[in-house]
Order: sequence, then C-alpha cells, then structure tokens
Amino acid sequence: MTEKTKCLIIGSGPAGYTAGIYAARADLKPILYQGLQPGGQLTITTEVENFPGYPEGITGPDMMEDLRKQCERFGTDVRWGIITAVDLSQRPFRVTADDGKEILADTLIIATGATAKWLGLDSEKKFNGYGVSACATCDGFFYRGKEVAVVGGGDTACEEATYLANLCKKVYLVHRRDELRASKAMQQRVFRTPNIEMVWNGIPKEIVGGQTVDGFIVKDAKTGEERRLDVEGVFIAIGHKPNTELFQGVLDMDEMGYLITKPDSTATNIHGVFAAGDVQDKTFRQAITAAGTGCMAAIEAERFLGEI
Ligand code: NDP
Repeated sequence: MTEKTKCLIIGSGPAGYTAGIYAARADLKPILYQGLQPGGQLTITTEVENFPGYPEGITGPDMMEDLRKQCERFGTDVRWGIITAVDLSQRPFRVTADDGKEILADTLIIATGATAKWLGLDSEKKFNGYGVSACATCDGFFYRGKEVAVVGGGDTACEEATYLANLCKKVYLVHRRDELRASKAMQQRVFRTPNIEMVWNGIPKEIVGGQTVDGFIVKDAKTGEERRLDVEGVFIAIGHKPNTELFQGVLDMDEMGYLITKPDSTATNIHGVFAAGDVQDKTFRQAITAAGTGCMAAIEAERFLGEI
C-alpha cells in the first residue's frame, strides 16, 4: 500500500516530536515513525532538570510522553515502527517501513538521533539511570559533592570530567591506555584540574552497588591488579554513533557519520531533506538544542513546500 504525505518525520526524540508539533500546526499533516527506541535517548535517563518549563524537573520518559501527546494533539500521525529503506533519488521521496507500508513524501525530516556507546557490562545496564549515565550535563547535578568516575580518553571524556570536577568532590578519569586521545588543549584542562585523578591503563570490570552505585572495579591492564573506586556515579564517555546507516552514500556525512547540514539551517545536500537533533549535532547533544533544530526543520520544510 502506498501513501502520500507532505512531510515524513523519522525519529521520536525531542527533535522529531518538535518537528511534528510545528509541521502539524503548519497543516502539513505529518507522519512520524518513532523508530527503534520510541522517545529516544531521554527514555533511558531518569530526571531531566534542565529543560525549560519544568521548574520541578520531569522524568525523561514522562517528558517524551508529553511531547508525543502534544504532537498528536495537532494531528501528527505518530506510528510505532521502523523505516527500513529510503529512495531519495527523486521527489516525492520513497520510504519503506517495516510494516510493509510505502510512503511517498514531499519532504523528509531525519531525526534518528545518535546512540551512546556502552562498555557492554551487565552491571552497566542494571544501574543505567541509577548511577550510570552517558551525559554529564544531563545528570552531573545529581552527584554534587560526591565522587564519580568517567570512562574514556577522548574529548568527550575530558569535557565530561572537567564539567563534573566543578560539581563533584572528586572525579576519576579511567582510560584504558596510558595516553589520552583528546586534543592537547583538553588534556591540559584535565591535568590542571586538581580534583581529577587519572586512572591510566584502567579496564572497567564491574560497577557495583545495591539500589544505586557505590563502587567501580577497574583492572590495571599492565599489572592485572584490581582497584575499587568508591564512586556513586559512573559516566561512560566512549563515543556516540549517529544513526545514519540508512543514508550512507546518499546524504553528505562527516567522517564519523553525522549528517552535514547547511550553516544556520537543517537542510542537507538533497533539496527537501532536513536533519535535526543529535543525528547532525555532535557538539551540544541536548534535548533543548535538538528540539530547537526540530522546530527549524519543520519551518524549513513548510517554506520548501511553498517554494516548489
Ligand atoms: P572518541 O572516539 O574520540 O574517543 C572515545 C574514547 O573512548 C577513546 O579514548 C577510546 O579509547 C575510549 N573507548 C572506546 N571504546 C572503549 C571501550 N570499549 N572501553 C574503554 N574505553 C573505550 O569519542 P569522543 O566522544 O570523545 O569524541 C568524538 C568526536 O567529537 C571527536 O572527534 C572529538 O574530537 C569530538 N569532540 C569535540 C569536542 C570539542 O571540541 N569540544 C567535545 C567532544 C567531542 P582509545 O583512545 O584507547 O581508543
């Protein structure tokens, strides 16, 4: 069965849902496919305290539920399902979903997000949202005055460690080698911060605790010795992977796979295809910035339709 829509949105994080709200209010009658993880990355965080408009904070899942409802209130057709193929070679774009539906879309908004990489420990899954996080800006506040660990050796890990050092009593930066991958400037910031302790050659073994985390077992890659860090939070900062496999070879991407958008715009290299949120943002990665670019994408889609 083939359907037609003026605007198809792929992804259901803050970017996708905000695009849905704006596109529906502009009468584009958008269809939104939620993707693998309805609600996106925020559904795996607990409290969100930095999204404007929630003075008491809100849980990630509740916020995404509110955004979905707001989207539907204006008529966005929100669907549970995954897009499995796209043909962007001509307009309308031809998009196939895992339920077998084929959709012809005049405009496409890609808001498929990025996925944080995890270590793969069972305990990391168990404590996710209860002491384990992949976002210091989101969750660091809950660890004020406490001891935490950050895992990774790149710019993200260094940035997270310095951010947390402002809030926390002590930060262990656990890196699996004896040399950081991060830029020299970031390294210097880390080395200059007195309450960051480097744990070199540190291989994460286990995150331990009861209801919440109270320790992190790290093995020395050289000596084999195990050490217990008495931390209440473990921040995993070993990189993100943008969810762009569907668009490889078609849309312009940087070397890490993030979609490239035009300056001050969400437009990609294909007219009528827009990208919003973490799929095109490796710098800020916040719900509010994702929502902002989702809004931009819907406005740009509406203007594009007015021009063709
Ligand atoms: P990177 O891929 O640069 O670094 C990932 C780090 O995690 C590496 O040190 C890597 O170790 C370590 N790692 C990977 N897998 C594992 C694992 N399974 N166990 C333990 N450690 C692991 O990712 P980033 O997110 O740090 O950076 C991504 C890009 O974004 C970079 O280009 C970076 O420069 C950029 N960026 C720029 C910022 C800025 O300019 N302000 C801020 C943040 C990111 P190893 O080194 O041994 O491979």
